[in-house]
Amino acid sequence: MSYKLSFSPSLADTLRRLIATSGPISVAEYMARANAHYYATRDPFGAGGDFATAPEISQMFGELAGLCLADAWDRAGRPRRTSYVELGPGRGTLAADALRAMRAAGLEPPVELVETSKLLRAKQAERLPAVRWHDDLATLPETGPLLVVANEFFDALPVRQLVRSGFGWRERVVDLEAERFVPRPGAPVPASAIPAHVREAPQASVLEVSPAAAAVVRELARRLVAQGGVALIVDYGHARTAAADTLQAVRGHAYADPWTDPGESDLTVHVDFEALAAAAEAEGARVVGPVEQGAWLTALGIDARAAALAAAAPARREEVEAARRRLVDADQMGTLFKVVALAAPDWPDPAGLA
Ligand code: SAH
Repeated sequence: MSYKLSFSPSLADTLRRLIATSGPISVAEYMARANAHYYATRDPFGAGGDFATAPEISQMFGELAGLCLADAWDRAGRPRRTSYVELGPGRGTLAADALRAMRAAGLEPPVELVETSKLLRAKQAERLPAVRWHDDLATLPETGPLLVVANEFFDALPVRQLVRSGFGWRERVVDLEAERFVPRPGAPVPASAIPAHVREAPQASVLEVSPAAAAVVRELARRLVAQGGVALIVDYGHARTAAADTLQAVRGHAYADPWTDPGESDLTVHVDFEALAAAAEAEGARVVGPVEQGAWLTALGIDARAAALAAAAPARREEVEAARRRLVDADQMGTLFKVVALAAPDWPDPAGLA
């Protein structure tokens, strides 16, 4: 007798069976399982992948982030036992560029990476010699300041979607109709769960709330307050909480349907910077910003860095300039992407965020 031991059902089939037997699942559970599968099974970055992120566009992004952290550390009095922490480091490109820039500024911290994908951990190991990995923030070092970066990490964390329906709000759930995944309003949620300024949004408006993102920010803020340090959070999103359905799927550099083939495209949402700031302040951390990514990189000196790179390799001048424009220009990543810093009460404001 032979068994096909290697058979594994697709995530879509697993979710279909789950919904058929136990009922609809929340959008948050759908998104969490889809992204866990997605990142566990591929390297999505770059030309041959699904999307490009700022550190993959140019080394300037990671270098300036590293310099920003090294400068804050310098102005904090160069404390010993400072660690570099990155949340969702992807291919490790940002970390490699940031650490190189930090080394030039006299800082060589131990490297702590929060990353759940085994496949991406292997990619990171190729670029970064001595690092420690963590499944979440709980196991990060408990002594010494933390210099933290999270680029396009929070947009991948699951959200609950709440839908304005009738006189109140309901939590959107994912159900099955003829084997297809369809979102529909589920159980009512209390009005107290909805911020006052969006409570009266038009019928069918969608409000996204992320308990997962809030929990990460609270833990990060607690650590900064207790240990010292700063965190740079870079992502696309809105400065104020707003009612909008921003869930999107990206595959092969094009938009896809989030409700088809879960786990085969990258699911993201706009980050609610107001909610992140509130979570950090509730734990006693200082919040600086958000400011637009273009303004931040320009204040940190991206023009001078681009000129230096072009002077060192004249054949690459146009490529460097195109990358600079992609990161900074308003019609590219410059205004949609924002940067917010969290800081320990006795640490200085990171540069470029005023
Ligand atoms: N910062 C990188 C990658 C962004 S993609 C860049 O800018 O290129 C999101 C990253 O977060 C991936 O590395 C993914 O594996 C990781 N990730 C997603 N959800 C996570 C979670 N819940 N815990 C830890 N890492 C997660």
